Amino acid sequence: MFPEYSHCQLCPRRCGANRLQGQLGACGESAQCRIASITPHFGEEPCLSGSKGSGTIFFSGCSCGCLFCQNFQISHGHQGNLVTPDELLYRVLQLCKKGVHNLNFVTPDHWWPHIRFICNEIRKSNLDIPFVWNTSGYSSLEQLREQTQLIDIFLPDFKFSDPALARRCMGDADYPKIARDATRLMADKVGFLRPWDTTGEMTATHGMMVRHLVLPGFVQNSLQILDWLAEDFGDAVPISLMSQFTPVPECSRQSFLDRTLAHDEYKQVCQRVGELGFRRVFIQDLGGDSDFMPDFNENQPFPGNLKH
Ligand code: SF4
Repeated sequence: MFPEYSHCQLCPRRCGANRLQGQLGACGESAQCRIASITPHFGEEPCLSGSKGSGTIFFSGCSCGCLFCQNFQISHGHQGNLVTPDELLYRVLQLCKKGVHNLNFVTPDHWWPHIRFICNEIRKSNLDIPFVWNTSGYSSLEQLREQTQLIDIFLPDFKFSDPALARRCMGDADYPKIARDATRLMADKVGFLRPWDTTGEMTATHGMMVRHLVLPGFVQNSLQILDWLAEDFGDAVPISLMSQFTPVPECSRQSFLDRTLAHDEYKQVCQRVGELGFRRVFIQDLGGDSDFMPDFNENQPFPGNLKH
């Protein structure tokens, strides 16, 4: 049904696995789609969760595969249930009936053919619900060009500006360039997230917002990403800054990234947000402490637990 899986080039690893014959790619998945959860989710930013929730579909496996993944049971452990394309479509349609504000495809890159099928079927049924591409930022430009023709909202999690850190965490020192090129293309094709409403009364319908999870011990990695965002997009680019890093068992095993974020570390990153003058920022609380907020009217503290 989906020939792209026969010599898979869906992500920058371009490993060429024949997933149709059951071979597992570096993402750990064959061509049989596996989902871990499909449910309304209220822990996204208010402009995505709204009052009825974001319709999240958590896919198993991951082409990025960070060692610290906050959803490691799904991305590395491959928890989930196999679904046929038609079963997936049925479950997505059921989710739509719950009134969710959008369909939020989480860790989607290695399942693009399935997702394209779902999106096309939903548009054929005249459902006008926004599609959200909730990605690691480790995206193939070739695939992205196709995705921007169907997907309405892009949420790239820009993880690394430091090539050595990227290599250690997910095995590809080119991640910073790949993610930077990907965010540029997303912004070029779909613009910035809109409408911009921090209360959740109006939910977003189009555009890009960049997420960034601050890593303990790597403040400079975060500061460089913020500098790049300012350089590439100016101060109006929507950003969601996350503080929720929690060490997973692999971090302890490697004695690396094996603690939570310190107050001073997060404060330095939040201060850079203020210095660069970003006007549209969600800033996640660090342990209920919201004194990191730069003093800009449009910026909002964000208590949610995004878990990705
Ligand atoms: S999506 Fe998976 S199988 Fe396809 S190129 Fe990437 S790692 Fe390989």
